[in-house]
Formats: sequence, structure tokens, C-alpha cells
Amino acid sequence: MSWKISLGVEQILDKGKDGDALTRDEALSLMHLELESRETYALMECANHLSRTLFGTKGEKHFHIGLNVEPCPMDCSFCALTRQAGVFTEKIDFSLDQILSWARQGEAEGADAFNLMSTGTFSFDSLLEIGRNLKREVNVPLVANARDINHTEGEMLVDAGFVGFYHAVRLGEGKDTPFNPERRIQTIRVLHDVGLKWMNCVEPVGPEHTAEEIVDLMLLARREKATYSGIMRRINFPGSPMERFGMISERRMAQMVAVSRLVMGDTVKAHCTHEPHSLSLIAGANLLFPEVGSSPRDGKADTGEGRGKSVAKCAALFREMEWDPDLPSNCF
Ligand code: SF4
Repeated sequence: MSWKISLGVEQILDKGKDGDALTRDEALSLMHLELESRETYALMECANHLSRTLFGTKGEKHFHIGLNVEPCPMDCSFCALTRQAGVFTEKIDFSLDQILSWARQGEAEGADAFNLMSTGTFSFDSLLEIGRNLKREVNVPLVANARDINHTEGEMLVDAGFVGFYHAVRLGEGKDTPFNPERRIQTIRVLHDVGLKWMNCVEPVGPEHTAEEIVDLMLLARREKATYSGIMRRINFPGSPMERFGMISERRMAQMVAVSRLVMGDTVKAHCTHEPHSLSLIAGANLLFPEVGSSPRDGKADTGEGRGKSVAKCAALFREMEWDPDLPSNCF
């Protein structure tokens, strides 16, 4: 058996290792590599090399704080917070004291950002108010994760102290969700117009998604100038309507993290994966999301008591994989 990797893959990786843009067909051919192949390991090595060259050794910890729980009427089929899932039957808006307490703990453990997530009908005024309070009380960059917004709302977020906005055109958008993908892209353009950094991830990946669907969202992230992108797999909560499809493994996710890393090339400040795990940290990822509060992946109202990992736990994962969680963030 030859120890060499195929010439075609070698040529793509040669291009990708310095951050040059890959074509759609090149990205697709990397998506189709066998997991158990030298080519896949070479792909992961190449993505790892690119990240460590561009990002130094920084391991980013962007702390997700889910602000509220509700049986959300938007009924996105992959989400545990939907009305149809029946996991949560009552609304909970976590108190400002609780949110501040999580934020202070996150700041003490070295969070590089707070990602403040709210569900479909959460009051925009409350989001602004929480932002203003956190801006006063803690010294960590604020990223909102909310519904689609217009220019006026974008400017209000900036005035309240937010510097970024997490937003994704999700896999199955418009089919598994009630949202129009074009409207989601409009929001991304609003972010650029008002000066909010656009944070993205290709999500929530399941085995049923085609390589084409996944690669097209990677290319969207590059074209629309994401500050970071990456890959998050779908987690099937008990009783999820998506259970019949199963879930992708962390190993398969790491391969996609590497493809996505090469697609983003030299245009990004970091590369994410979710949920936190080691393998993708040698495949181009250097950004993890610790979590507390509500989560679309958890049956616990506070995922800090469920699936969510703490900032300290993510920092420990980084150290084990020889990323430095204590350096300043490259994202802000
Ligand atoms: S993903 Fe967001 S909008 Fe969709 S059901 Fe869940 S909380 Fe609601």
C-alpha cells in the first residue's frame, strides 16, 4: 500500500494550507473523503496548521448564556425549546441577578465573550436592558443571539453595548424552521452596516444533510464575511422529531470542521465547534462555547446543570490540546 495521499487531495491541501480560497467542488471532494483514510488525516493536519499559523495558540471561550426558556411557537424541529417538543411547558425569564451571577463567574474563569441567546418571542427591550447592565458590570465583549433584526434594532444593540451578533442560516432553514433564508441573510447585512461583528456556525449538522447543503453554508459564511465560522452538530434531545435521522459522530464533525476551516481560509479570526470536544481542536477549531441557561439542545432549563460545559472545563480542554485559553481574544 502506498503511503502517499492522492495527488488531487494533495493539490487542494497545498492551496488550503496558506488560506487560499477553495472552489465548491474542491470543498465537496474533501467532504466525501473516507474517515478512515490518510487523506482525511492530512486534511485535518492542514486545517490545524492553518489555524495555528493564523490564530497563534489562542483558544477562544465564548460563553453562551441562554436568557429564557419558553415553549417557543416557532417550532424549529431540531430545538428542545419548541412548543411541539413539549419538553418545556412554562416560560422562564432568568432574573437579572441570575444572569449577572453567571456573567461574573464566566468573567472570573476567563470568558472571551458572552453570547446572550434568547428564544423566538423574547422581548427585544429586555435584551437591550440586559446588555446595558452587563456592559456596566462586567468587562467582557457582548454578542447577541436573537431573531432577525432591522437597522434600527441593530443600532439599538450597538448603543446598549453589544459588539457582535451570532446569526446563522441554519441547515433546513425554511423547511425545518418557519424562517426565510433570505431574511436571515438580510440580517447578516444589517450587522455589517451597523458595525456589529457577524458570528456564525454551520449548524445543526445531522446525517441527513447533503455535502452540498453543508458546503453551501460554509461558502456563505466566507462570502458574507463572518468573523468566525465552524461546525456544530445537531443534538437529538429525547423525543426529538429528528431522532429518526440519528446524529453525526464527533469524528465526522472533526472532518467537517477541517473542511470548513480551509473554506474560511485567511478571512476569519477564529474557528468554532460545538459541543466542546477534543478532536476538532487538532482539526482547525480553536473556539468553544461553554454554556449556562437555556439551550436548544437540553431538556434542563439551565444547561449548566445538564449538557453545558463551564468556562473552566473548556479552558482545561484547550490546555490538553495545547491551545492557550489565557491569551487575549483575536475576535474583537
Ligand atoms: S431555534 Fe429559536 S426560534 Fe427556533 S424554536 Fe428554538 S428558540 Fe424558537
